[in-house]
Amino acid sequence: MINIFKEMEKKGISEAAVRLKEGAGNAVTEYILQHLVLVCEEIRVTDVDALGYLEILFYRVLEDARIKQKDRSLIHILNKMEEDLEFSVSIFGERSEFILDFLEADTLINATQKTANDPEKEILGKILYIRRTYFAGEVKEKARSVQKPMETAAYLDEHVIGQRDAKMAIATAVYGHEKRIKNPEKRFVPDVVLLIGPTGCGKTEIMRRIRDITGLPMVFTDVSSLGASQFRGRHKEDILLELYEKAGRKKSLAEKGIVFMDEFDKILLPAISDRGVNVHDDVQSQLLTMLEGSEVELKLESQSFLLDTSRILFVLAGAFQGIDEYIRQGIKERSEASGSIGFNAMLDKEMDASFIRENIDHEVLMRYGMKRELAGRISSIAVLEKLGKNELIRILTEPKDSITARLSRELKLSCKAELIFTDEALESAAEMALKDGSGARALHGIMTAAVRDVLYRAPDMSGLKKVVIDEKTVKGEGSARYIFEDSIEDTIDSYIAEGNELNEESL
Ligand code: ADP
Repeated sequence: MINIFKEMEKKGISEAAVRLKEGAGNAVTEYILQHLVLVCEEIRVTDVDALGYLEILFYRVLEDARIKQKDRSLIHILNKMEEDLEFSVSIFGERSEFILDFLEADTLINATQKTANDPEKEILGKILYIRRTYFAGEVKEKARSVQKPMETAAYLDEHVIGQRDAKMAIATAVYGHEKRIKNPEKRFVPDVVLLIGPTGCGKTEIMRRIRDITGLPMVFTDVSSLGASQFRGRHKEDILLELYEKAGRKKSLAEKGIVFMDEFDKILLPAISDRGVNVHDDVQSQLLTMLEGSEVELKLESQSFLLDTSRILFVLAGAFQGIDEYIRQGIKERSEASGSIGFNAMLDKEMDASFIRENIDHEVLMRYGMKRELAGRISSIAVLEKLGKNELIRILTEPKDSITARLSRELKLSCKAELIFTDEALESAAEMALKDGSGARALHGIMTAAVRDVLYRAPDMSGLKKVVIDEKTVKGEGSARYIFEDSIEDTIDSYIAEGNELNEESL
């Protein structure tokens, strides 16, 4: 803890340090300390004023008798900030934005899983809500300066492994989208991009990253749960209402948003209801009215208003399992009709992403079950690769906030020890994920399970320097290796690091 105070003194926040020191021992204060340390260590503190404000917010959370001590969520900090912003954006705006940037970066690192009740998701949602409600203008300005397609793709490269085709399609579409929303006087039809790729290959992840840099309201929705309009259930209006909420109930901002529709392939297959109605036929028609650009009537709290969808960017996504068969069928029919040998030549080809990429068109989508008008609305199609073992290993380590980086950081935060994964550990995690069949989605769970015990035990181990996770730990067949300050491994490591050679004599 001493180091923390020294660090804080260096940064000119010694007063805060002294006050926090008095409160040390209390669980929430410890938590505050850890986060302040992060502020000190991990971002270059340029604004001591903002840091002081963060401290005040922390204190107000502490003092709030309604918030239980063990409830440590950052959401309370954001609630307090919102109270201030409601009072005056000009007084609290600048400091708040600095803190939002920090909390967002910190939280994003933890938010790698797509589970609905993720506390991180809630925090990020709240951050976005505050940004939209109080800083909409500034956020847009910031975003616009970074959105040339190549810049966006380069940003995506830092976070998403591979999937070049999809990155380019989305980066270009987002650039076009930015242009459209700058031209309010012209009428447009919405841009519609289709992403085809197996589960867990990065379709949603790309869009999450786009959301983070554009600052535009974005809805992620599973369209397979939509129902026919004449029956009860979720309809297209619910998607647009969600977008409206994400835009802080600002109609003009919602009309510039992005809608990501997952499981789109599921609504292309017929689904006959008890009353003999093809529900999916109706769902496709509902979505078509949105994708064509129309004014959709929405009702909220007994008020109704029209939301114009003509400037919204729509991204459709799905696994489209078996689409290669439909492509094959098309080629076969065409070659039979023309008497060419095209079909036989194709039989030798592997049915991989590049085969789909080369042959996908509106015709194939219609064969798959998409209405002609809907297929006609799709302006660009990108095909994502199935992730192999090598890509899965890269996902574990390469992205800026990779799973291993996040776990290492978590351990460092709790006890300053270093977390090391052996190459074999990474390989077996990738192999296990491959077996699971859900792409990269399984990696998070596998790695978290491997370090669960470490994160539980390590804070109680004094002098702990390193923890090594190997293949056995990942497979659940052995415990992690704990290395202490004066352990023999450590002495050898530093002996080698100093440039000495290890031989019998030195041992
Ligand atoms: P889907 O393709 O089904 O939409 P996601 O994009 O949600 O899958 O991927 C699930 C998780 O796997 C993401 O949260 C992300 O952490 C990880 N992931 C998937 N693909 C990639 C990739 N290409 N690069 C980096 N991480 C990825």
